[in-house]
Amino acid sequence: MSLLLLCVSLFSGEHHRLMKTVSILPAHCHDHTTSETLIFTTLLLSRWAGWTRPHLRGKRERCMRACVHLYVCSCMCVCACVSNLCFICRSLIFQKRWVMLDAQCLRYFQNEKEVYSKRIIAIRFVTEVLNVGEQKFEVVTRNRTFLFRAENNTVREEWVSVLKETIQQRRSSMEMSLMNSLISKQGYLEMNGLRSKVYVVICADRVFLYGNAEEHSQGVGITYIEMNVGTVKSTDKRSFNLTTFYRTFSFLAESAQQRDQWVEALQDCVSRSLSSDVVAQKIWAVEANQRCADCGAPHPDWASVNLCVVLCKCCAGVHRGLGQSVSKVRSLRMDEKVWTDNLIQVFLLGNNRVNLFWAANTPPSEALQPSSDSEKRQRFVSAKYCQGKYRRYHALFGQQEALNKALCSTVQTDDVLETLSLVFCGADVNCYTGDPELPSPVSVAQHYGQILQVEFLTHNHNTDLPGSRAGNHTLLEAALPVSHTGYLFKTASSIRPVTECKAKGDFSRRWCSLNQGNFSYYESEKSSSQSGGMKMSDVLCLLVNPPGKHGYAHSFELYHDSGRVYLFGEDSSDKVKGWIKAIAKALVPSAAEDLVCWPFARVGRLSYTEGQSHHSPLLGWFSLGGSRLLLLLHGADRVENIDLRKIKELSMEQEAGAGAGAVVLVDGGRSLRVEGDRRPDFQGWLSGLQQGSGRGDGPLDQQQLTDTDVPVIVDRCMSYITQHGLKSEGIYRRSGVNSKIAALLFFLRHDARQVRLNEGERQVDDVANVLKRFLREVGEGVFNGHQASLPWLHTTTVSEMSERVSQYQALLHSLPRVNRATLGAVINHLYCVQCFADENQMNMHNLAIVFGPTLFQMDGTDNSAGQVVEDLIQNYQDIFNVDAEQFQRQLDMISHVIKAQKEHTEEGSPSPLTICGVYLERKEEGSELLVQISQEVSAEELVCKVLRRRNIPPQQGDYWSCFLVDNSQEIERPLHYQERALTIYFSLGKDCHLVVKKNCYMEAILTYIAGRVDVSRNGLIKFCEEKGQRGKGTFSRRLCVLSGLSLRLYKDVKSSQPERECQIHALKVYCGIKRKLQPPSCWGMTVVCEKAVRDIQQWYLCCESKNELIEWLATFMSLQHDGDLWPAASRLDS
Ligand SMILES: [Zn+2]
Repeated sequence: MSLLLLCVSLFSGEHHRLMKTVSILPAHCHDHTTSETLIFTTLLLSRWAGWTRPHLRGKRERCMRACVHLYVCSCMCVCACVSNLCFICRSLIFQKRWVMLDAQCLRYFQNEKEVYSKRIIAIRFVTEVLNVGEQKFEVVTRNRTFLFRAENNTVREEWVSVLKETIQQRRSSMEMSLMNSLISKQGYLEMNGLRSKVYVVICADRVFLYGNAEEHSQGVGITYIEMNVGTVKSTDKRSFNLTTFYRTFSFLAESAQQRDQWVEALQDCVSRSLSSDVVAQKIWAVEANQRCADCGAPHPDWASVNLCVVLCKCCAGVHRGLGQSVSKVRSLRMDEKVWTDNLIQVFLLGNNRVNLFWAANTPPSEALQPSSDSEKRQRFVSAKYCQGKYRRYHALFGQQEALNKALCSTVQTDDVLETLSLVFCGADVNCYTGDPELPSPVSVAQHYGQILQVEFLTHNHNTDLPGSRAGNHTLLEAALPVSHTGYLFKTASSIRPVTECKAKGDFSRRWCSLNQGNFSYYESEKSSSQSGGMKMSDVLCLLVNPPGKHGYAHSFELYHDSGRVYLFGEDSSDKVKGWIKAIAKALVPSAAEDLVCWPFARVGRLSYTEGQSHHSPLLGWFSLGGSRLLLLLHGADRVENIDLRKIKELSMEQEAGAGAGAVVLVDGGRSLRVEGDRRPDFQGWLSGLQQGSGRGDGPLDQQQLTDTDVPVIVDRCMSYITQHGLKSEGIYRRSGVNSKIAALLFFLRHDARQVRLNEGERQVDDVANVLKRFLREVGEGVFNGHQASLPWLHTTTVSEMSERVSQYQALLHSLPRVNRATLGAVINHLYCVQCFADENQMNMHNLAIVFGPTLFQMDGTDNSAGQVVEDLIQNYQDIFNVDAEQFQRQLDMISHVIKAQKEHTEEGSPSPLTICGVYLERKEEGSELLVQISQEVSAEELVCKVLRRRNIPPQQGDYWSCFLVDNSQEIERPLHYQERALTIYFSLGKDCHLVVKKNCYMEAILTYIAGRVDVSRNGLIKFCEEKGQRGKGTFSRRLCVLSGLSLRLYKDVKSSQPERECQIHALKVYCGIKRKLQPPSCWGMTVVCEKAVRDIQQWYLCCESKNELIEWLATFMSLQHDGDLWPAASRLDS
């Protein structure tokens, strides 16, 4: 018998990033169980005999592939016997095997190409690792010992130390109990090609194969199958296939029913493996979180984020039934967004410690078991959390003020458990601290840097306290300072917004009471049982209707969390006002009181995100009236005030089908994304915001406005004429094309901010007529209605010009702000137009004839209208009190614009601008720039814009580029200079952003390409392909050929068929490979191959040196862009 090499790869879990191939010599195992030894020996001998008999050689392949267990293990057992007594081989037999160690198992494979092992030894069953003689070491489990031999002692030492370390780590963690609790099914199955059955164990997202049940209990098996690469299908009555990329396992169950159970369990396992368990693993790190907090069932993968308990699927279902206001249920696997590091930290308190509070007084008779029926579960969960029946009462229980005070001081410490106990014994999360600087417990916690306290409080902003429901323990209610009673008229609640007018007959009289945060109504003052009501914390929004909307003159609506709308009315304005004031105060937290101290139309809470952040939405309080929006964002200490007419952008996002929607509001350099669903309250906010942000058909002060209070429509038209029409003969007198004027005016009225007027598309005369028509038709006109305009006309009868001027000044001051600003802007514009009368033939008089009737909204018969306008133009600087120097600057600028216009004959950008957020150098606070760009803007132009904005002079050799950075993948891609920046911006996924920074490879890339005649490259590269979402890659060597139109990967140099192939143009090449995959070097590329929308493959290619990487990148880019990698005309020139 020849000695065979045992080949070993050192590959140890998360802690060792080195990957090594070393050789180990012989392996064998001692079997301590005599009976087992005997059985094995017998089995063995027969097999061994078969081995050596020539006519059985043909079966060898079958044995190796299928009888994994017997072949390897028996061989080892023979050796074990031999060392004592065996007469067949009389020496130790070592076979060369590929051995892998990860955090959970030591496995060995036939060779390094095999995916499925021949033997797997669970690390948690390994009791010892011992050096034995030269080059050898033993891995000792409870029942067996495995002997390995390395190529030399150094390698052996390495193995032994890594193994020992791994064992140590496994022991300290709670792996053991966890692994067993993760088993979802186990049992014997027949496997195709095997004579005896295998023992199959489905554990978490893997399927383990053992020779028998005993092997399983000893932690020594054949192999495991990662189910993220698996699919399961029934094939026949009792049989089913488990197919992976590498192999198909065919199983036969005892019955069809058994088969169905296996298939279902395996399919569950596949979906489990495809969902992420990153969060679950972190939370299970605390042993107590490995059992459901309510029933004790193993591997709970749900949680209530406000009650701080980890739950099983069944209990989570019951929790969900209690409603969001009691328990906010989230999945550890699916709701990744909600699981911020802080929230995970809070959960590390552990079910046991949290239950010290929640379940302190649970009588054993009432305790739940994993097997408890749903009725019992329901009863228990409701008693535990809704009534707080089993909780440990806080010493301050019942003393509201003392509780609040204790809360305010506890949140300054890191004792979240005490906070939990206070809050669920009645302390008010939204109480006023007495300190105007830090008004709420949340702001206190924030101030003291207690982020976990902040996290906990945030999730309990609106939680119903135990006992506050169903009148069980009513004394707990956080005392709200507001109470109000009286008669109101109420209609039946509805699930739709009330759009139609409700007659008095639709209302019924109810005695209403607002007290202790509860709004309830009764048949009459004397009724003892209420006919309905709601908790104020369940009210999302209060809407005040305009007078006269319904039969009762004054009315308001309450929008409930359930989606129902309640309408109340009353004829007396004072009574309704009283109710609105009281309800509004009871609705908002004390810090948001400013929100309700003005004549708002709508107040309530909404969830939102800010900027490009993809964090989970926060809760903010908003109140809206007309074009004014007040908001108190999460954690903010003051109320903000936004004039919706002046915001930069307001757009609606409606997700098809899903029912969710969002409104994005861009204002003064930041963007706010308010999210909502189909419930009526959000729909109401949408239309309210839309109306408030400016209506093209409204009067001047309801239009979209510029910063200087001029309607955007007026501003757009005038600046267009200033740029393109000042020298146009007969401007404002000539008529345009009627259909074009009507269309343009329609779009401007719809959303003026989105419309850009550009030469070529719009004729100056059309635009001029749009302005005139708008001014002529706008509600009430510039002079604020007919009555108010009469004194202006009358002023023309004053003969003394100076007297007229002072009268005009007085009248001007009596105009509302927007009218005054608009009139000023129009006259300023007309003054500029007449400055160019030599060319456009429109002197003051001519302009006055046109604009008199337009501005006064009358026909041309009254000459005094024209006279007023002529006076205003002529005395523009006096009447409007214009700073002479400033005005001169304006005129100079116009001349400059016109001059520049002549030189620059190209057309401008014809499409609307969008604001996009870009970071300079890296993503961090303060490095974000908001840049307005159009659809056509290239990455290069975007880079220039950013550099100009930050006053960074581009220098030769800097190679500033725009990068698409993907944080979650830890990769980045420099955009090609001609790529459309907006297209990329809109396609950015979660955790992605754009960064402008220097491209440190560009110089080397250009140099490399310049020196090449033929652009193609082939060479060896380390390749890995990720299947599903699981991490852990295996990089193996491939021949990579990059030429012409495609990228091809070959298994080895001799292969004639490529193993992988993709069109170059379907590739996106990113620099970097995520660390989780443990790439063999830091010179990696992630290649995304999009064959179709749903068919996206991701390949990881890893080079050995930076130069190699640069050459590959250069070749990729050059092939993709025909060698055009960098703009010829450098930005230095511009
Ligand atoms: Zn449970």
